[in-house]
Amino acid sequence: QAKAEGRHTIRFFDLAMQEVANKRVQIETELRRALDEEHFVLFYQPKVNYQGKLQGYEALLRWQHPEKGLISPMDFIPVAEETGLIVPIGQWVIQEACKTLAKWQSQADRKGFILAINISARQFKHKEFVADLTAAIDKFQVRCEALELELTESLLLENIEDAIGTMTVLKKLGIRFSLDDFGTGYSSLNYLKDLPLDSLKIDQSFVRDMLSNSDDAAIVETVITLAKSLRLSVIAEGVEEAQQADFLHELGCDLLQGYFFGRPSLIHFD
Ligand code: C2E
Ligand code: MG
Ligand code: MG
Ligand code: MG
Repeated sequence: QAKAEGRHTIRFFDLAMQEVANKRVQIETELRRALDEEHFVLFYQPKVNYQGKLQGYEALLRWQHPEKGLISPMDFIPVAEETGLIVPIGQWVIQEACKTLAKWQSQADRKGFILAINISARQFKHKEFVADLTAAIDKFQVRCEALELELTESLLLENIEDAIGTMTVLKKLGIRFSLDDFGTGYSSLNYLKDLPLDSLKIDQSFVRDMLSNSDDAAIVETVITLAKSLRLSVIAEGVEEAQQADFLHELGCDLLQGYFFGRPSLIHFD
């Protein structure tokens, strides 16, 4: 009896794994087609200062699937990372972001806006990353000071020496760096002082309950203090209510981002 059950269990896992593998292959095939046919779009979410004044946007990728509709990056970035497709997809994001920035820079009211894009580990480590990025900047004549790259701790800690090298090259051009989802990775405070960062981004998981949970509040306050001590700017993500914005403002948080100020949306900047 037990043996039979055991065999069934194994069969069940085989099937489940087979299904996961099939799904991955299917997403991969469809992602290749999406690249060919340009089925991606960038949504833009505002970043504001404590007075609610717009400082710029973060570009967030969406897959506009012809049958399935809009697909969230959480559902395809992992497969894109595994298969390496994140490199051409990320390159598309860079081109699109540079196009938008070039447009802003010809518009009086948007000239000073900063546009942030998210960069995956595999994309950042790719040997052509710097060349591809600088080619797009040249092509669209983008002012580098208006471009910000959001990187995660885990990306940087995979190979800190190489990461610092790549960042330093780009920093010399004027490109800005912010550390995304700060506090959720294997934070080692020691590396912070070696990285040419401009800003820390407090993860939304701390912001969510900070008004009711004193531990979350303490973490948020500590990150803000830390950022100030390191002369970095600090931004909170996931701000959904006025009271959260007020609290963050009182703690001295420089920038805010979240549904309270605006959801990511398709914006035509012309
Ligand atoms: P992220 O960079 O940490 O982006 C923040 C996520 O929180 C976004 O989800 C955003 O829509 C969501 N968000 C913003 N404000 C609020 C809020 O007030 N409440 C709540 N509950 N959520 C909020 P999204 O757009 O689904 O993106 C998820 C992740 O996918 C991003 O996390 C980023 O890591 C990745 N991603 C997005 N676009 C790109 C891209 O172009 N390239 C790469 N490599 N990764 C991307
Ligand atoms: Mg981000
Ligand atoms: Mg984030
Ligand atoms: Mg996040």
